Amino acid sequence: MAGEPQDDCLFCKIVAGHIPATIVRETETTVAFRDINPQAPTHVLVIPRLHYPHAASLAAAAPAVAADVLREAGEVAADEKLDHYRVVFNTGGGAGQTVFHAHAHVLGGRGLQWPPG
Ligand code: C5P
Repeated sequence: MAGEPQDDCLFCKIVAGHIPATIVRETETTVAFRDINPQAPTHVLVIPRLHYPHAASLAAAAPAVAADVLREAGEVAADEKLDHYRVVFNTGGGAGQTVFHAHAHVLGGRGLQWPPG
């Protein structure tokens, strides 16, 4: 069923506590943890507890939770005292998405180039 945990999903396993992660924030609907392969001094992933394959499907099915993810991305930036940062939703393999459970990358702590590669 849409939104239900998937046995083969890495981020569902992190939500369930079956795979370790360095969690920095948790809410009823979201979990935020440090990326295992950081691309910036701050690189935190904010994920919904619900499983949807990407941000658009999350927003369509559970818009309040999508808003929670965005709000938490801002809270991470505030916690990390970032004066500038980027929130990225890679969508599709061609855009670099490797885990098909919606997630926001919060990147900061260094200068960020535009456009991204
Ligand atoms: O956007 P994309 O799907 O590529 O992002 C997945 C992210 O999950 C990667 O940045 C990867 O380093 C991270 N990851 C993680 N912990 C894991 C597996 C992947 O932080 N156990």
